[in-house]
Amino acid sequence: MRIVEAFFLKSAKSINDSLPQDVAEVAFIGRSNVGKSSLLNSLTNRKNLAKSSATPGKTKLINFFEIIFKDDESGEKYKIRFVDLPGFGYAKVSKDIKKEWQKDLTNFILNRNSIKIFIHLIDARHDRMQIDIEVEEFLNSIKKGDQKILKVFTKIDKLKQNELAKLKNRYREALFVSNLKKTGLKELESIISSHIFGIEK
Ligand code: GDP
Repeated sequence: MRIVEAFFLKSAKSINDSLPQDVAEVAFIGRSNVGKSSLLNSLTNRKNLAKSSATPGKTKLINFFEIIFKDDESGEKYKIRFVDLPGFGYAKVSKDIKKEWQKDLTNFILNRNSIKIFIHLIDARHDRMQIDIEVEEFLNSIKKGDQKILKVFTKIDKLKQNELAKLKNRYREALFVSNLKKTGLKELESIISSHIFGIEK
């Protein structure tokens, strides 16, 4: 199974103006600048699917993308969605606006049962940031039985060999990617498809 098509569907502010929950979804979450847009672009082989924003924390909308997987053996195509959740952490906005976003985002995550995988992106150079510990605790506390949480460490090209080995040893269930070097992407694609479709190939 591999991704053969991807396109933007819609931006939403909250669960109320989101798309119907009729397709399995993979949600991407991570602090601003972690490499989320770059990863969405590399995974889908599109230069500009997710716009990489120059101002950290500027993105505040939930973005939906249609993703088509193709089974090369049967030729069948399957539709899922990627959900790009707003970056958090550095937003240069007032506390009240931040609170409002957080409420909308929390509410969305809590009620969006069509999300089958939460992909938690973490910068490989900073694996123990407070914000990531909080995200991990939150996701673990709300996770339903058919939802999976996957830690994906980004920017691994910035680590020395021994640092990467240590990180891999510390997080045995995680994936490790570089958008720059295009490493780990096939593995991520394959984990997504095997969890969503229940087939490994
Ligand atoms: P976002 O804010 O999470 O969407 O992050 P972006 O995708 O916009 O990336 C933030 C910055 O990190 C940009 O300057 C990217 O070029 C850079 N970046 C993203 N992925 C990688 C990576 O795998 N390796 C390196 N070295 N830089 C990366």
